[in-house]
Amino acid sequence: APPLCNPTGGTHCPYCAMQCAMRLVAKDGRLEVTPRDFPTSQGGLCRKGWTAADLFTADRPLTPLLRDRRDAPLRPATWEEALDHVVRGIGAAQAAGGADAVGVFGGGALTNEKAYALGKFARVGLGTCNIDYNGRFCMASAAAAGNRAFGLDRGLPFPLQDIPEAEAILIAGGNPAETLPVLLQYLEAQRQRGGQLIVADPRRTATAAMATLHLQLTPGSDAALANGLLHIAVRDRLLDEDFIAARTTGFPTARRAAAAWWPDRVERATGVPERQLVQAAHLLGEAATAMILTGRGPEQQRHGVANALGYINLALALGKAGRQACGWGTLTGQGNGQGGREHGQKADQLPGYRNLADPAHRAAVAAIWGVDPATLPGPGPSACELLDRCGAPDGIRALLVQGCNLLVAAPNTNRVRERLAALDMLVVADPFLSETAALADVVLPVAHWAEEAGTITNLEGRVLLRDRLVAPPPGVLTDLELLQEIAERLGRGKFFSADARDVFEELRRASAGGIADYAGITWERIVAEQGVFWPCPTPGHPGTPRPFQERFATPDGRARFHAVEQPLSAEPPDQEYPLLLTTGRVLAQYNSGTQTRRVQALLAADPEAFVEIHGETARGLGIAEGNMVRLVTRRGAAALRARLVRTIRLDTVFVPFHWGGLGNANLLTNAVLDPVSRIPEFKTCAVRVECM
Ligand code: SF4
Repeated sequence: APPLCNPTGGTHCPYCAMQCAMRLVAKDGRLEVTPRDFPTSQGGLCRKGWTAADLFTADRPLTPLLRDRRDAPLRPATWEEALDHVVRGIGAAQAAGGADAVGVFGGGALTNEKAYALGKFARVGLGTCNIDYNGRFCMASAAAAGNRAFGLDRGLPFPLQDIPEAEAILIAGGNPAETLPVLLQYLEAQRQRGGQLIVADPRRTATAAMATLHLQLTPGSDAALANGLLHIAVRDRLLDEDFIAARTTGFPTARRAAAAWWPDRVERATGVPERQLVQAAHLLGEAATAMILTGRGPEQQRHGVANALGYINLALALGKAGRQACGWGTLTGQGNGQGGREHGQKADQLPGYRNLADPAHRAAVAAIWGVDPATLPGPGPSACELLDRCGAPDGIRALLVQGCNLLVAAPNTNRVRERLAALDMLVVADPFLSETAALADVVLPVAHWAEEAGTITNLEGRVLLRDRLVAPPPGVLTDLELLQEIAERLGRGKFFSADARDVFEELRRASAGGIADYAGITWERIVAEQGVFWPCPTPGHPGTPRPFQERFATPDGRARFHAVEQPLSAEPPDQEYPLLLTTGRVLAQYNSGTQTRRVQALLAADPEAFVEIHGETARGLGIAEGNMVRLVTRRGAAALRARLVRTIRLDTVFVPFHWGGLGNANLLTNAVLDPVSRIPEFKTCAVRVECM
């Protein structure tokens, strides 16, 4: 194990948005994780956190890898050779196709400093509009809904400590028992205080098993469910008329849309019995305080924004927003899912959550960067559309990927593989040889997690600091060093520091006056105050744990209702593909599994992908427990071991998405996009299950 270079420093977990606090200790020649007191995790860690130190001994490249020809194997190379290759490839692509012939793809687990630097690198260093990131796959619809309804995209607009105070909580399409396990202590505390938990999910997950009420809805029917609950709230006089009048606008339009969703119609659309719909509406409406939390279930759909707005309508109509222990929030998945979408790696965004299309916003950031605003490219395509441009005529010829395993994380893997293979050059910077790195022309090994310092913004909007505790192995650069090296070799000068603290100082200035204003946050404050909530515009500002208590962030301070429709499914089941596929996560793995599949204890717990199928459905197909089966959709096929359960809908099968190869769930998924947020529809498509 590497020696500790900062034994007193603390860090946070490398995985989910809970960002549990931990320390590394040396013991018997090994590094071990030990929990650290912190107000959010309160000493808790799940098995992923406990085993995180095994990442230091996981197999990883310690030199760059290079392919001499497309059909040649990757071979070790020096940094000099690899960086020359990258710079030549960028130069050739831009000489042939202009600045936009190079694309950049980032990730929601990158620190704030890396996300900021990547955006600046793309727009100033490369001058390309083609930059987006994998947050487009997970949070984009909730972010767009939050902006539309409240004028601000803050995942949870309240601290975790408020959760136990809510008398009722609806979790729609989220399974924190497996995805954010340490958050469960707050739900358990809520229950111990007599609180009610409602879970809407096609599966009876570990979270649904804790609930007072489980609404086992058809995948893709969330807008109907949310409208149906609002319909009952209107009918049964559960509305908070004073709140609606004082703090919102647009209720009549939302009410009109919900009027078409009477309970027995909602029962037919969602499969949820009418009596449960009524019970859920009354539990939420009659509680003095309530929260509605959405997860990827409703959000990762081609009408993800409408779904989230439907649940927001319900919270607003019941007067359960902008008050203590009330509110709508989204359960962020990736470690820096919140901060990663605030500082400029998104296709349409500049630091501080500024809008790349707004002249005033462009001028503010250009002034910090010392460039003419006219030289900044305009907004580019969203993630899936960016991938579609790869290798297309007049499209992207060279792509740099940092912090994302596209071949596992993106929908419709066969299409993604085809587009990446059509590039002149694919460069992947990753600590590990991920499935995407294994396809690359150049692999650049970079530091991970506690090998570098940086800030992360957790699911509550609390900015945290991860200290550097261990030096990266020789032969490995940090992402910031790598970007600086490439920029310099391209002759674009030293336009940012490779020191994360310097980058954060620049980020503070660039975000000042923006929506996500970090100007008053310093690393010293983060340590002293155990994190600081944005917006925090000045050093004397206390931070903003509850941004909507006094007013919402819209120009008139009122939250907006929206008329929400339930569109027809993009791919309803038919004779050829008679079942619905939905995807999700398991406790022992994290996202594309690039890290967690390299931790033996986690791999042993969940060694392979599987398909969860109802026992009755399986019997009808002649499938027994443990059989290998083939799942087929209009885009591809996957080979998976069958797990027979009684906890999933008869018409639905579930596949976790953490694996590559033939067990890759995204061989099956549909890249149809939400019209507003451009999030792809991971959560529902038509599928056939065959015996193998
Ligand atoms: Fe905490 Fe999430 Fe890490 Fe588990 S994976 S220890 S819940 S941050």
